[in-house]
Amino acid sequence: MEFKTATPQERRQYYREEWDVKDVPRFIRDSLYQREFGFDHYGRGPNDRYKVFRNSDYLRKFMRVRTPFAAYSSVAFYEKPNRRDGWLKSELVFDVDAKDLPVRSCECGSVCEICLEQAKEIVRDILDTLQGDFGLKNIYTIYSGRGYHVRVLDEEVMPLDSEVRGQIVKYMVGADVPRSKYSRDGMTYNLEHFTIPFGYPRVFTERVKKSILHLNEDIMLEDVNKKLVKDVIKNRELILNNQWGPFKNKKGPLRYKKLIKSLAFLNLSLVDAKVSIDLKRILRLPSSLHSIVSMKCTEINNLETFDPFRDAVPKFVQERKD
Ligand SMILES: [Zn+2]
Repeated sequence: MEFKTATPQERRQYYREEWDVKDVPRFIRDSLYQREFGFDHYGRGPNDRYKVFRNSDYLRKFMRVRTPFAAYSSVAFYEKPNRRDGWLKSELVFDVDAKDLPVRSCECGSVCEICLEQAKEIVRDILDTLQGDFGLKNIYTIYSGRGYHVRVLDEEVMPLDSEVRGQIVKYMVGADVPRSKYSRDGMTYNLEHFTIPFGYPRVFTERVKKSILHLNEDIMLEDVNKKLVKDVIKNRELILNNQWGPFKNKKGPLRYKKLIKSLAFLNLSLVDAKVSIDLKRILRLPSSLHSIVSMKCTEINNLETFDPFRDAVPKFVQERKD
C-alpha cells in the first residue's frame, strides 16, 4: 500500500464518522484531567499545547470540531497540566520507530512491511524483558503509525527519574557492555576473556546475536574493519545454535571486544532513548490519525496477530479511488 497524506476532508470524515472517544485507551481516559494534550492543526508540529480536558466528552467535542492533523497527550501526570506544573509521575516509554532502525533488511526509505515487522521483533523482546526481567505488568503496546510505542504504567517505574530510565533503556536494548566482573545470584563471574555468552545477562547476549544476524557487509562500525564484519557474517549461522566458538578471536580478545562495543552502540538506537528519558514528552494519542501516512495510531491487543495494513487503516483509505 502507498502512504499518502490525509486531506482535510479525509480528516473530517475520520473524526466525525469513524473515530469514537472510546477508542482512546482506558489508561489514558482514566487519567485524562491529569495529562497535558497537544495538537498540530496545520501539519507544522504540535504548537497548540497545554490543553486539558476535564472528561472524555470535552475531548470528543474538540476532536469532532477541530479534526486535528495530529493529536498528542503527555506521558506525565500533573497537578496542573495546563501549566505543565506539579509533576506527579510519568509513564516509562519505549519508542521503536521503523524508519530509524539502525540495521534494516529493507531499503524503503520510510516504512514498509519489512521494517515494520523488524520493529515488531524488537517490541517483542522489549515486552519479554519488561515482563520477565523486571516483572512489570501494566504494559500497553501502541502502533504509532510508523512504528511502536511500549508504555509502562506500573507504579514502581512511574516515579523514576531520567537517569534511571536511561539505564533501563541501555539494559533493555543491550547497549551496556557488561562489566568484566559481573555479579549475579551471589556469584561473581570474571569476564576478562570475553567469552560470550557465559555469565552475560541473557538480554545482552540475545540482542548482540540479533544484531549480528541482521548485519550486512556495507555497515560502518566504528573501530571495526571490513574483514572482521565479513568473517562474522560468514559464520553467523552458527550462533543460531549458540555456537560462539568461531567468534572468538585467536589473537586475543581486543578486536572482538571492539565489535561488541560497536554493536552495543548501534543497539542504542533501536529505541529512541530521548523519548524514554523525557519526563514531559507528549506522545501521539492512540486512536488519533497519523495524517502524514493516513494510518490510525492504534492500541494493540495481540501483537502476534496485529497487522497494521489491516488493523490501522482508516475507512477513507480503503475508499480512495486512485
Ligand atoms: Zn522498510
